[in-house]
Amino acid sequence: MKLHMVDLGGQYARIKSEIDESIQEVLNSTVFIGGPVVNAFKENLQTYLNVKHVIPCANGTDSLQMALMAMDLQPGDEVILPAFTYVATAEVIALLKLKPVMIDVNPDDFNIRVEDIKSNISSKTKAIVPVHLFGQCANMEEIMKIAKEHHLYVIEDNAQAIGSDYLFSNGTSCKSGTISHVGSTSFFPSKNLGCYGDGGALFTNDDEMANKLRMIANHGQGSVRYYHDVVGVNSRLDAIQAAILNVKLKYLDDYAAKRRQAADYYDQAFSTLSSLITPFRNKQSTHVFHQYTLRVTDGRRDALKAHLDQKGIPNAIYYPVPLYKQKAYKKYSDEHFILPVTEQLSDEVISLPIHTELNPEIQDVIIGEVRSFFNS
Ligand SMILES: *Cc1c(COP(=O)(O)O)cnc(C)c1O
Repeated sequence: MKLHMVDLGGQYARIKSEIDESIQEVLNSTVFIGGPVVNAFKENLQTYLNVKHVIPCANGTDSLQMALMAMDLQPGDEVILPAFTYVATAEVIALLKLKPVMIDVNPDDFNIRVEDIKSNISSKTKAIVPVHLFGQCANMEEIMKIAKEHHLYVIEDNAQAIGSDYLFSNGTSCKSGTISHVGSTSFFPSKNLGCYGDGGALFTNDDEMANKLRMIANHGQGSVRYYHDVVGVNSRLDAIQAAILNVKLKYLDDYAAKRRQAADYYDQAFSTLSSLITPFRNKQSTHVFHQYTLRVTDGRRDALKAHLDQKGIPNAIYYPVPLYKQKAYKKYSDEHFILPVTEQLSDEVISLPIHTELNPEIQDVIIGEVRSFFNS
């Protein structure tokens, strides 16, 4: 049995005729950049997310960078983000000569710790970038409250949680990525809504912000061609990727349900292993399980990883090194800087295969090897 961290081949096989036809239409049209297919995807995603504007772009990292560019920040301005995230979140902040202020996360849902946002706000703080890590949302209601009080921008890094619902305390809900000033996402192949190359998008309900983002994505050009009002970048989603995304968007809720089902099955199987903490489900959002991430609390995470590697069971450590310990990002804090939860998670987490093509038969093989490690 061939096991995968993410089974893109199996997923493609199920929708092959639709995907192939959709790509073929683009080839026949020879409209490879922009045009009706990209426009249709933009509109389909707007409808799905119930958001006023979607701005497609080249990848998730660009989307974060452009969101920051649209906020007219000055070099040295501070941006608060969780230290337990993918490097892209911090990278774009540093690239724009802003200061990444990395803070700790919750030990249960691994998302940015709201209490620490307040204590890290200074006169230079201009924005907060919460990351909806592994498929469920950060506490946006509290984050938006703090942001309003301190006049800060909020950008949701929604690369891992597209499709999840944010549940407000008053009983209403909306899609992740549409709560703050700007939401950003990635369509990297292994993401929950992935294309067959690179892709990304921004979401906003703010007309003015949407205009700015569109300009930035297109060389700073406004409505008149060859007139450039701001310094922009070149970041666009191509039509072949949009054609694929148009098909896959229809299945996104179904894909999330399959991931959730697989996660429930793992949870059940691991419930008797006292050295494992299965993924926590927070109350403010639905979990779309971009990753199924366990905590190994008996100090044997690396030994478990070695065992799984040896048995051919795919697994991964997201993320092994806190951002502030990375060579490129050390300079933003002093050498004794430590975030206890981030450190602990870096030592304890391990992610198992989670995707749309899992079934009990496949999962039993994975579960069997995990159990045999702890029971031997
Ligand atoms: C994948 C990812 C990104 C970057 O997306 P790319 O499309 O690879 O540039 C940014 N943030 C997070 C949290 C991600 O998981």
